[in-house]
Amino acid sequence: MNVIKGIPAAPGVAIGKALFFDSEEINIPRRSIEAAQVSIELFRLEEALIKTRRQILSIQKKLASDLGQEHADILNAHLLVLEDQSLREEIINGLKEQLVNVEVVFNDVVRRHLKVFSKTEDEYLRERTADIEDVRRRVLRNLLGQQPATLASLQEPVIVVARDLSPSETAQMHKRNVLAFVTDIGGRTSHTAIMAKSLEIPAVVGLEVATRNIHKGDSIIVDGTRGEVVIDPDAQTIQRYEMEQRRYQEINRQLLHLKDLPAETLDGHRVVLSANIELPDEVPSVLAHGAQGIGLFRTEFLYLNRTDLPSEEEQFEAYRTVAERVKPNSVIIRTMDLGGDKFLSQLHLPSEMNPFMGWRAIRFSLARPDLFRIQLRAILRASVVGNLKMMYPMISGFEELRRANEILQEVKDELRREGIPFADNLDVGAMIEVPSAALSCDTMASEVKFFSIGTNDLIQYALAVDRVNEKIAYLYEPTHPAILRIIKHVIDVGHASNIWVGMCGEMAGEPPLSMLLLGMGLDEFSVSPVQLPIVKQVIRSVEHSFAKSVVEEVMKLRTGKEVEAFLMASLKQVAPALVE
Ligand code: PEP
Ligand code: MG
Repeated sequence: MNVIKGIPAAPGVAIGKALFFDSEEINIPRRSIEAAQVSIELFRLEEALIKTRRQILSIQKKLASDLGQEHADILNAHLLVLEDQSLREEIINGLKEQLVNVEVVFNDVVRRHLKVFSKTEDEYLRERTADIEDVRRRVLRNLLGQQPATLASLQEPVIVVARDLSPSETAQMHKRNVLAFVTDIGGRTSHTAIMAKSLEIPAVVGLEVATRNIHKGDSIIVDGTRGEVVIDPDAQTIQRYEMEQRRYQEINRQLLHLKDLPAETLDGHRVVLSANIELPDEVPSVLAHGAQGIGLFRTEFLYLNRTDLPSEEEQFEAYRTVAERVKPNSVIIRTMDLGGDKFLSQLHLPSEMNPFMGWRAIRFSLARPDLFRIQLRAILRASVVGNLKMMYPMISGFEELRRANEILQEVKDELRREGIPFADNLDVGAMIEVPSAALSCDTMASEVKFFSIGTNDLIQYALAVDRVNEKIAYLYEPTHPAILRIIKHVIDVGHASNIWVGMCGEMAGEPPLSMLLLGMGLDEFSVSPVQLPIVKQVIRSVEHSFAKSVVEEVMKLRTGKEVEAFLMASLKQVAPALVE
């Protein structure tokens, strides 16, 4: 038995046999051809390209109907590769020079490009390697008359193991036949991880050694909630996880009954429980899970995986749609948080040594007011449709916040001059995710209507632990006493300044921590849709006074582990069913 740890991408437990997806290299036979046969080989290539195009278009269609147009558009890059004229010319020349079958030439040419792309400084080109690799395999399979690798027609339920999965592959999965999936690479914010959550398939990504340590047919357990994979488990472990799985399913079934009930403690203290989304399509699932609005709309996803920039009109349409569907509840639109691990490839920005601490989020927006203004105009225009609020990411202090608000004011004046309506009283907030902002939040309270604590970043900056680096994941502790003090400080300062304080980092969605945050007086919890019912159950199971007493005790503890143990024990006291 062996346990490997990765990044939890989508919650749930699955037990089953490992199926390797597309990790073996395609075997390409080599044969010589006569010069006169070059045109025949070219014809074969054209046919394979047309067939591949048809396959991609049909996946796009399925994606558009299952998950929405934004998810389908991710495959546009694949289509561009198929249409690349210079690639075609290189293949023609290669065929004439080498006089071998087209599979060999096509493979050599594409591999050469892949090698160059993977080493380039240009972020956009580097990001395209996964798309090109996907196209390479599809075209080769079509040339060789092999069935495309598909996860759509699996005969029996399996756990998919892959080095990486493209969004197109993930989209073919169905809960019926894919019990879970695990990958070597990928982060929490990859499209693959986002889709796993949308499809409600348990997943662990970023395992690094999954394809090395797991063997075909191995029996494995995937714990998508904790980000763990157990390889070749013994009977006792299987039994333990089977119980866990039943408990998880049962809890989920029961929890959905809470959908229309308020997020209120036993002694009548109410909080707002809302959800985080990346794309407008996720709204129906969010509402089905009982969200009281959207606490974080990560708008940068509108900018990713495309070759152009989203226009004001396109953004307006996206914000308007979400506002309309969610009203009368509110939607907090976060202005673009590009940089870090989310790159705006269209502008060909140079890569940085420390992108998370670099030209990111509000820093980027303030340096590129042309792009920022377009987004602000779109948000303001959509604000008349529903209940919109907005917030800035990665504010590090008063000066940045004031500058952002000045630009907002200028954009409002501009719209007023143009006679375009907008909600002048739109609430503006600041994300508190940089330690300097947390410690000086008293200086900023007068500039905003709310704070939203972004613990995903706050923890990485406060503890100096890269949030996407698996090697130091053990140090990434939301329960570290320093983190608890910072969060409590922000909540206390917010309240003393008469503004509400929310949290949209993953920390808010972890049951024992939700209870602690409740005790600290957090006003709004914005969590990923799948976590929503369980957080509501935690809130409805405790007395606010109990949660406050937990905070008092926890603040005396010295280590993250002690805090964690105390919280688990406390939660067990009030909601034993939610704790293993
Ligand atoms: C955060 O940092 O906690 C957050 C919610 O933003 P993101 O995960 O998009 O950086
Ligand atoms: Mg953040």
